[in-house]
Amino acid sequence: MQPRRNLSELGYAGYSVDENGNVFSHYKKTGQYSYSIIEAEIKRVKPSIDRHGRQVISLYKNGKRQNFRNYQLVAFVFIGPQPPNTVVCHNDGNVNNNHFSNLRYDTQKNNLADMDKHGTRNAPNGENHPRSKLTWKIVNSMRQDFENGLSIPEIAKKYKLHYETTRQIIRNQRWKDDKVQPRRNFNDPSYIKWRKSVYKRDNYTCKMCGSTKNLQAHHVRRWADNPHLRFDVKNGITLCVLCHDRVTGYESEYEDYLLTLLQRGNIKLKYDKFDIDRMLMNLDDE
Ligand SMILES: [Zn+2]
Repeated sequence: MQPRRNLSELGYAGYSVDENGNVFSHYKKTGQYSYSIIEAEIKRVKPSIDRHGRQVISLYKNGKRQNFRNYQLVAFVFIGPQPPNTVVCHNDGNVNNNHFSNLRYDTQKNNLADMDKHGTRNAPNGENHPRSKLTWKIVNSMRQDFENGLSIPEIAKKYKLHYETTRQIIRNQRWKDDKVQPRRNFNDPSYIKWRKSVYKRDNYTCKMCGSTKNLQAHHVRRWADNPHLRFDVKNGITLCVLCHDRVTGYESEYEDYLLTLLQRGNIKLKYDKFDIDRMLMNLDDE
């Protein structure tokens, strides 16, 4: 194993990063809903990959998730805190070579000059130029974002597209895909009936944190993937908007947990909402 350094100075004592940018979690489950930080407990944090092919690492603190580029983490612990008005530059132009010897803090101007020198300014993958060619991968990811609750203006901004283009893609009028489900109609009478039944069974209480405000009905098994369960009350669970937000994007990882909550019925919850995140913070590990 390569030398690792803890991320405590960044405020994330439960994590460390090695000199190549592999990130590790040291959280160990010590009880049903409790976790401890144990240095000898090492689990690799699986990065997600953004549409430019760069790694994104999610770290958790006090129940909140923060995303980092793994090279930001490497630079922080092996080079030092980032000076103001600088960016992290890859000396060889390869954004996936995150060894600290390949990284430096420099001005954005020099970074762009570097990119020109390496020919990577406009597109390491040929896909990241604003308003350039769309790909199915991007289109699918836009549709997934919409499913997950992002609005069309938010998606347009995220993918640097015009509103109208974005709207047509989301509505399946461009990049037509037969597999795209018809839009969910939250005001459909059967949808309203389903939602009311879920609330009533759950005693109008968020099943994750016990809140009785800003309630929403969540489909435990995803609406998009399970047409036969869309109006099944047993597939619904009452969540407050904050808890729902935590689940969004991680629906399948939360499935078993939410089903467990449903099985318990309406008993009072003893743990606080941050325990849930502590329990789930290693979701990305196999
Ligand atoms: Zn809640």
